[in-house]
Amino acid sequence: MENRGDTVAFVTLGCKLNYSETSTYAREFEEHGYSVVKSTEAADVYVINTCSVTDHSDKKCRNIIRRLHKKNPSAIIAVTGCYAQLKSEEILGIEGVDIVLGAEYKGQLYAQVAKIEKKGASRAFSCERNRIESIFPSFSTGERTRSFLKVQDGCDYFCAYCTVPIARGKSRNLPIALLVQEAEKIAASGIKEIVLTGVNTGDFGKTTGESFLDLLKALNGVEGIERYRISSIEPNLLTEEIVRWIASGTKFLPHFHIPLQSGCDTVLAAMKRRYTTDMFRSKIELIRENMSYVFFGIDVIVGFPGETEELFMETYHFLESVKPAFIHIFPYSVRPNTVAASMPGQVDSQVKDERVKRLEELSDRLHAEFYAENKGREEEVLFESTMKGGMMYGYSRNYIRVEAPYQREKIGKIVKVVL
Ligand code: SF4
Repeated sequence: MENRGDTVAFVTLGCKLNYSETSTYAREFEEHGYSVVKSTEAADVYVINTCSVTDHSDKKCRNIIRRLHKKNPSAIIAVTGCYAQLKSEEILGIEGVDIVLGAEYKGQLYAQVAKIEKKGASRAFSCERNRIESIFPSFSTGERTRSFLKVQDGCDYFCAYCTVPIARGKSRNLPIALLVQEAEKIAASGIKEIVLTGVNTGDFGKTTGESFLDLLKALNGVEGIERYRISSIEPNLLTEEIVRWIASGTKFLPHFHIPLQSGCDTVLAAMKRRYTTDMFRSKIELIRENMSYVFFGIDVIVGFPGETEELFMETYHFLESVKPAFIHIFPYSVRPNTVAASMPGQVDSQVKDERVKRLEELSDRLHAEFYAENKGREEEVLFESTMKGGMMYGYSRNYIRVEAPYQREKIGKIVKVVL
């Protein structure tokens, strides 16, 4: 099938890691003569990179497969990602699916698709967890100003609600030297900002014995890259050494995305998280002592089994006192084969919805307060290439979204603006 001049379309669901992997698949197809088209267009091959974080994600994936097959019955459909790893048989049972690739085979996606001569030559691959040992380098290039670079994959934590360790396997990473080369490739394409992504990014080093801080220091030296963000880091892995180094005038920005999941120690223990609310608070304080106007994005799960109204309110008050700039709120979703799935005290979905709503209101208030604190300050903004209604968009160092009249010469540049 090589060099036939065929077309391929991608659908990506879920996290930034999936987006960076999809970009890598796309580059590989292009290297073999394929043109990448939109998933709304007719294509010879459709690749669906799935997520399985909730029931809803699984359902969305099934609907997409059915829709694509109905519109393009002769197209080859390949499914990869977390849902493919966790439920390969279920996906193979959907009409139109030709190939299901578990995590171990993700780096070989093009090669496996190319082996299929015609529609209907179904293949599935073993998806046992202990087989997931590979990791392939990937970075996104969809935006011309910012790239997501995968530095780590998998997780050894096994939080009570999470299927990601089963879907993505053990914590593993690419060597620093190779990641520096990847960052140099990104810089050579003119991109100025890199977001480091992983499943448990701060757990970097399990494969190579290197440290996360050494990775940050090495990447900081890459010429042409002017800004770095860390997509997400577990609070227990955000050490004082890392915080002080970032604050010492590096290219790493005052923007931290830290999963909290619950602001109540009883719930945190039931979730099998590796920190207490005191530890979490001390990390936030440490960062604020060393950096100013920091954007904190915090993940929270509401309605975890056993979360009573009283325990939920502990989370609410904790968040109110920590004052993040944004709260990412997820209603708890039962995932098969997790400890939490069989826990007593499952919370009614209406109660979860109502708690989500209350936290959304809190998030909106805190978000507005953060913007008000920043109003009138001078900030550096990197404008992105998208133009909408004559406007261009970009992000400040501390992740404030800025809108300004479109000026071509400012795209991809770091520009000083008064917020
Ligand atoms: S740290 Fe916990 S929530 Fe995050 S991927 Fe690992 S098991 Fe899942």
